[in-house]
Amino acid sequence: MADREAIDVEPPSDEELAAEVEKFRELLMGEKAKLLRNAQRTLTEDMTLDQDDLPDEMDLATADYNQSLAFRLRGRERLLLNKIESSLERLESGDYFWCTSCGSFIGLKRLVARPVTTLCIRCKEKQERQERTFAG
Ligand SMILES: [Zn+2]
Repeated sequence: MADREAIDVEPPSDEELAAEVEKFRELLMGEKAKLLRNAQRTLTEDMTLDQDDLPDEMDLATADYNQSLAFRLRGRERLLLNKIESSLERLESGDYFWCTSCGSFIGLKRLVARPVTTLCIRCKEKQERQERTFAG
């Protein structure tokens, strides 16, 4: 179905996109919460931690706590968190739906499947071809 994705490039109207922003914000916030929950589980399962160091309910709700949690994420997770954060920023600035390489509409289906993507399917495929070439 990969070629089907490429057909989904007809940009919706500004009004329709404005309605999508809220949807994608929720999607991205959900991904972020999931990531932080995983990190939290890793943290609480870490038996080397002094129980007194564990945050109470109040701390759990603070942004500061989430911030310190983010530092405990492993490399790949932290990378994903960074991508989610920058996607949220691009959502606020209105750049989210547009390919960072060629400026075309990325496509809603593609964004639902990969909410942190910054490239349209054509540029992504081009990038993957180049990566393969460089990989030898
Ligand atoms: Zn593109």
